[in-house]
Amino acid sequence: MSVCMDAMVDVFRTLARGEALLPLRQVLHLPGGKGAFAVMPAVLAGSTQTTALGVKAITVMPDNHGTPYDSHQGAVLLFEGGHGSLQAILDASALTAIRTAAVSGVATRALAREDAGDLAILGTGVQAETHLEAMLLARRVRRVRAWSRDAAHVGAFADRSARRHGVAVEPAASAREAVAGADIVCTVTSAHEPIVEAEWIAPGAHVNAVGASVRTARELDSATVARARLFVDRRESALAEAGDFLIPRAEGRIGDEHIEAELGELLLSGLRRPRSPADLTVFKSLGLAVEDVAAARVVHARALATGTGTWVELGGERGLGR
Ligand code: NDP
Repeated sequence: MSVCMDAMVDVFRTLARGEALLPLRQVLHLPGGKGAFAVMPAVLAGSTQTTALGVKAITVMPDNHGTPYDSHQGAVLLFEGGHGSLQAILDASALTAIRTAAVSGVATRALAREDAGDLAILGTGVQAETHLEAMLLARRVRRVRAWSRDAAHVGAFADRSARRHGVAVEPAASAREAVAGADIVCTVTSAHEPIVEAEWIAPGAHVNAVGASVRTARELDSATVARARLFVDRRESALAEAGDFLIPRAEGRIGDEHIEAELGELLLSGLRRPRSPADLTVFKSLGLAVEDVAAARVVHARALATGTGTWVELGGERGLGR
């Protein structure tokens, strides 16, 4: 997670410098509302030797929670820019789980109060686990509460957290109970309607709003977003895909200027942004293909260095003299 957080700092700076090609992702909604299939390409510019090209193809199946199947399944294909060769095929479930939380970790380091230590996690699925890990790295966490609609899921999450991180997670009976007095709130659910209301959130809190990735879904109510200083992973994506932003905007509560900065702009400016102790900050995460390509590049380099992974011949080399 810490290696991935460093890679996310680098890639968000690259994005903010305009050194990445990043179209909006294509999302195909599956018949019957079962889920979605998304394709996410990106290019990280550099010299021809260091240019990285990649695409993530992934299914998102919310009903998989509580089954043996991951909510997000697919692959990231990583190419190099010199000859355009395919370098690696990576598991998108693991990459998505880790890179998303790593980005929230970076945002939390940038935006949360230095002394923020009371953490609330809403949702207990894949992202809840990696977010706990990232928050433990981002701040000195002294208390963790978690909420899910299903008490058994919260119990299982608490057991896994104790085993993996030695952290005691307190099950909360409601989202309101989880959030009361928390300094950091991570919303990592598949909810389509708000699960958080502005009056529940303590002054000075920082919220990572991660779960809703389409324009019709949101986790935060309009008052929360209107009250907050709002930061996003990318403006263009937020204006196209973020229900958490677009719904209050459609209600006339906020305008486009309500987005204060992209994460990469914050990182490039050296985080010199005064924060009053009572400010509520929200980082709206949608997830970007540059995150996947950057994370894939790290994993590929490590696999080469440590001799892990499996070599596969896929063609693409003509062979001189053939
Ligand atoms: P999981 O399926 O593993 O977990 C989903 C969680 O959402 C469960 O805890 C479930 O809780 C809860 N949930 C489902 N429906 C509702 C609802 N209507 N109200 C409240 N809680 C609900 O998913 P992941 O952890 O992998 O992903 C969580 C969300 O994050 C998804 O929406 C996903 O699309 C999004 N995501 C965003 C990314 C980004 O980059 N921003 C990247 C990856 C994922 P319960 O126990 O109550 O059933």
